[in-house]
Amino acid sequence: MQNETRPLLSVRNLRTSFFQDEGTTQAVDGASFDVSPGKTLGIVGESGCGKSVTAQSILRIVDRPGRIVAGEIVLSRADGSQTDLVKLDPNGREMRSIRGGDIGLVFQEPMTSFSPVHTIGAQLIEAVLLHNAVSKKEARHRGIEALRSVGIPKPERRIDEYSFELSGGLRQRAMIAVALSCDPRLLIADEPTTALDVTTQAQILDLLRKLQRERGMAIMLITHNLGVVAEMADDVVVMYLGRVVEQGKVDDIFHDPKHPYTKALLQSIPSIDAVPRLKLATISGSIPHPFNRPTGCPFHPRCVSAIAGRCDTEVPQLQAVGEGRTVSCFLCQ
Ligand code: SF4
Repeated sequence: MQNETRPLLSVRNLRTSFFQDEGTTQAVDGASFDVSPGKTLGIVGESGCGKSVTAQSILRIVDRPGRIVAGEIVLSRADGSQTDLVKLDPNGREMRSIRGGDIGLVFQEPMTSFSPVHTIGAQLIEAVLLHNAVSKKEARHRGIEALRSVGIPKPERRIDEYSFELSGGLRQRAMIAVALSCDPRLLIADEPTTALDVTTQAQILDLLRKLQRERGMAIMLITHNLGVVAEMADDVVVMYLGRVVEQGKVDDIFHDPKHPYTKALLQSIPSIDAVPRLKLATISGSIPHPFNRPTGCPFHPRCVSAIAGRCDTEVPQLQAVGEGRTVSCFLCQ
């Protein structure tokens, strides 16, 4: 039995590096956070902040020359046991049963995730057969029901179509059906609506919310879109250059951001109340090249509040600033 007070997934001091001839890139640099059962955790940050590599690390699908060099990723299983995913063989039987079984994955671009030479059904049935001891007929039946549950019309016919025959919205629904076909307790959704128009985006978010309510599953939502986070998340983790810089409840983060990077991200969201023709606020500079990591606080070259002589030499640690709230900034210590 799942202990409801225990996190479903607990990531501690995760470090994932890429070892190349040119040097070593620390894509994830000591990230720690929890995903609670049945809740949505939003992971936000600009491109290159390490959010997707964090998800790949959890699923143990980091491509070479990358690898996890330190940390723990503890998954609470349905039978009450706990498994540190870092200790598992990425291609071993246990990790393969967790990937797609306990943890489902929805990618940004379903066009590249589906094989163009196999029908949606073939891929759906394969996923069901991989994780369940059922006949092919039963797997097809489950596949049709999975397509129906994500709102795909005429699923008995659609199951025999190829991904390129579906619209972008239907393809993403089919991708969600594949991810949910084995009833995962955690769904990792990596920019699930980025490639979609706003109407379809709203429909997919509604669908994810409905499925979460019905199944009680947790969602780890990776996005650069703070609007999506505000709509979906219970808890938020803000990442910058592979480090968690702030985390807390969604209302606290949006109404009282503490870290200068979180503040800057929120100020750069267009608002309906904004003065017409006024330029949107931007974050000065850009994310540094991974081989050119700044000393001290990684955000200091772009930070409007940087303290000279301290922020460029010392690294701030993540510290509690209230209940369930942590920030890594000298201004909050
Ligand atoms: Fe800015 Fe210094 Fe805080 Fe970093 S530690 S975010 S540079 S004020």
